[in-house]
Formats: sequence, C-alpha cells, structure tokens
Amino acid sequence: MFSKFPSTTDRVRNFGLEAAFAAALALGVATVAYAALPDVADKTKPVADAPVEVVEPPAPPPAFDCGDPVPGEKINSPFGLRRMPWEDHGRLHEGVDIAGPTGTKVVAVSDGIVKRAGQSPSYGRYVEVEHGVGLTSFYAHLGKIERGVKKGAYVEAGSPVGRMGSSGTSTGPHVHFEIRQDGKPLNPLVFMNREFATKEDLPLKLGAYVSPRVRIATVSEIPESKKALMEAKGKKGKKDKNGRVRQTLKFQG
Ligand SMILES: [Zn+2]
Repeated sequence: MFSKFPSTTDRVRNFGLEAAFAAALALGVATVAYAALPDVADKTKPVADAPVEVVEPPAPPPAFDCGDPVPGEKINSPFGLRRMPWEDHGRLHEGVDIAGPTGTKVVAVSDGIVKRAGQSPSYGRYVEVEHGVGLTSFYAHLGKIERGVKKGAYVEAGSPVGRMGSSGTSTGPHVHFEIRQDGKPLNPLVFMNREFATKEDLPLKLGAYVSPRVRIATVSEIPESKKALMEAKGKKGKKDKNGRVRQTLKFQG
C-alpha cells in the first residue's frame, strides 16, 4: 500500500498516542495543582504563617578561583631562596616546581587570556595567562605548548596549556609554576586550591613574603650547561656512594 495519507491503523495509533499524551499532561497539571493547594486539613494554622520562600540571588563568581596546574602531583621545590650546586649564593626561586611524568597535562589554574606563549633559554617553553585581577599564572619548562594556546586566546580553568617536559634550564620533567602581580613573583602556595571572593581578599602581602632561610638545593643531575660553570669554579658537588650528587630537592628551574 503506497498511500500519501496515513492509513486507518496509523491514524488510530496516532490518536491513541495523542490521547495518552493528553492524559499524561492532564495528570501532570492535576499533580501540580494539587501540590499548590493550601493544606486545608490544618485549619489551626494562621494564613500569615504560610512559609515564604526566600529566593537568594546567586552569589557572584569569585574574583579569583585558583586551582592546581598539575592536579594530583605534589610540589617538589617551594617558592623562596634557594642555592643550586653551581651557584655561590641563594637566589629567589620565583615559583614552585611540580614534577611528574613527561607529557602530563599542565592546566590553567583559572579562566583567563593568554598573555604570552613562547620559548626562552632558561624557562624553555612557557605560557603566561592573565586572570583579570592583576595576577597572571606562568607555566615553564613545558615539553609542548597546547595547540591554540597563543597570545589573546581564552583558556578555561582546568584546560591544558601544555604538557610537562624539561625544556630550558631544567634537571628533569617538571613544571615551574608562578603567580605574578604586575610581573612580580608571589608565592603560588597561598593561592593554589583556594578561591577569593573579591580582589581585596587576595593574600598579596602574604604571597610577597620571602623567608630569609636559604634552601641548599642539590640535584640528581647537573644540567649540561652548568657543568662547565661548576668546573670553572672548582665546584664538585658532594656525591653519595651511588655517584649521585646529594639531593634535598630534586628539581630546579
Ligand atoms: Zn622552578
């Protein structure tokens, strides 16, 4: 049968469906109407006591909601004064180092706009993201910068900016992560995994504090570029019985 009109059976079936749909709709309306009826059984209740539903306005989004650049991995080297085996004096380690397997996703800690993405001899491949509260986040020693992560691009919190690597002056796969205020490095630890309702809540003073303590960092491997420097200075580095330079902190950069 090739009719352009629905067959009788089809029409009956359609009618059946429509009827069922209408009935369901009516039932829904009845349920809603019933739910909206006042509790007639409770006559003692004065009308004035009827619960008034207070609809609170949605809270505004926090000014800065900071996550973790490598969720699940720990900080290996903190922010603060640090002296590397090839250095004579302590120098400010301007961020935190988080180590992990090469290729691990390094994600934006908060929504923002990419300020710059590029390469430098010391930082290797890096990305800096502007967060609109006078702060930027900075990710360095990346093995790879994520596609599309370039100046002016919008990045969402938790989306990858690159992959963990060991580019630049680095002694092993890790990300060097910084929080900067107008280019000045702050201690990322006071921001990580915390949210701040307003700009005034940002712990800028605490973040700028640098302990006078100098951490003596020794590493598992001296970067090739620093070996000549150490030899020239007559520094050997203390080696343990396995021939490794003694370490308290594994990574640098
Ligand atoms: Zn570092």
